[in-house]
Amino acid sequence: MVMNVVSPRKSINTVFERVGVYGFGGSRQKRCKYEIDQDDDDDETMEMVQIGAERTKNVLILMSDTGGGHRASAEAIRDAFKLEFGDEYRIFVKDVWKEYTGWPLNNMERQYKFMVKHVQLWKVAFHGTSPRWIHSLYLAAIAAYYAKEVEAGLMEYKPDIIISVHPLMQHIPLWVLKWQGLQKKVIFVTVITDLNTCHPTWFHPGVNRCYCPSEEVAKRALVDGLEESQIRVFGLPIRPSFCRAILSKDELRVELEMDLTLPAVLLMGGGEGMGPVKKTAKALGDSLFDKETGKPIGQLIIICGRNKLLVTTLESLEWKIPVKIRGFETQMQKWMGACECIITKAGPGTIAEALIRGLPIILNDYIPGQEKGNVPYVVDNGAGVFTRSPKETARLVAEWFSTKTDELLRMSENSLKLAQPNAVFDIVKDIHELACQRGPLANIPYMLTSSFSSLI
Ligand code: UDP
Repeated sequence: MVMNVVSPRKSINTVFERVGVYGFGGSRQKRCKYEIDQDDDDDETMEMVQIGAERTKNVLILMSDTGGGHRASAEAIRDAFKLEFGDEYRIFVKDVWKEYTGWPLNNMERQYKFMVKHVQLWKVAFHGTSPRWIHSLYLAAIAAYYAKEVEAGLMEYKPDIIISVHPLMQHIPLWVLKWQGLQKKVIFVTVITDLNTCHPTWFHPGVNRCYCPSEEVAKRALVDGLEESQIRVFGLPIRPSFCRAILSKDELRVELEMDLTLPAVLLMGGGEGMGPVKKTAKALGDSLFDKETGKPIGQLIIICGRNKLLVTTLESLEWKIPVKIRGFETQMQKWMGACECIITKAGPGTIAEALIRGLPIILNDYIPGQEKGNVPYVVDNGAGVFTRSPKETARLVAEWFSTKTDELLRMSENSLKLAQPNAVFDIVKDIHELACQRGPLANIPYMLTSSFSSLI
């Protein structure tokens, strides 16, 4: 397999011919969007337009639908670029692995879904691949096998800037860029979408910037070999629709056809509708119904994400309280804005969004590894509680809606204190500055590539 890449140059030519993008080693006419900064005589080198030049710059955001958080962050960055810089940037949000490569890269969504359902398996995969030599070797082997496909995928979008919002999208594209001699031309940044205990593949010393959502993650980045100059801590990028002024709670409830008088709890489990959603919904159906008066004391909104089976199952149940059951929603800011509190697994995207909306959070589950650290992040900051028991969860919500409204208010205030609604704008402004300056890259050896080059 490794032998496939004996001649990088040759292979790149093939790729460029295939995608018809760059005039790599070809005639002048074949030269492309990127203009040259090298000797005209040197047919073997590539030309590029200066990034600071006046033309629309292409930004390729690398993501995967493993969960809902990576896409949400990618879309947040895309929308913020649009709002801040209009047509100055052309943004592509892509899963290049899925579009261009083969197994196992093109199948990450299904593998991830399977593994997080079998948590022991996920635990082994997460912790087993944490040592650098293990994941570097694994990614190097995959890079060797799919190098041409990844090149084709990257080059189709002719990126001036590549933004990775996925832990498995640093090593391979950076290696391919280096192979093409583009490492100093294309800006490559990582935007980490885990709040605390993130996987070490997020940290690659070859990036121009690594945006960490919290100081905890920044410390891990330093330990893993990044320089302070590469790290910025702005918070997790959340879709601008969450940060901009939205309708009042009452207006939202009218729009969403909710009960206008009863307090509302939002129950969800990330993009895939994971965790003990069904059991918790049933328990809430009981606890939010006052048997003495025969009336509900609250209403329930359940967002099942892409879990269609969960929608069908919940719809087949009978409810004594007002309940809304929804599939994948694209207007999460509205549903959160219409509710008093939220119950969710410890997904970083959902947590950060709930904080912006000032919602107290009951965390009822977490994916081992990357989500474990999100629990103390919420609980220790007084923005919520953690319990795996559906009954306990239902009891807490019933208390918040009746005898302990002050507790609900206090947690809501703590949530707002933790919120970082401007993170996404700070991130895109910083990337814009990088693009304007075309600052020098960090002087750190590219370890994966150098170890890999000996294989070629
Ligand atoms: N989400 C959404 N629509 C849905 C369900 C979820 O837009 O119907 C979004 C949610 O707002 C959040 C993301 O999906 O931005 C879930 O990310 P999180 O990190 O919480 O969990 P993941 O799904 O990645 O495990």
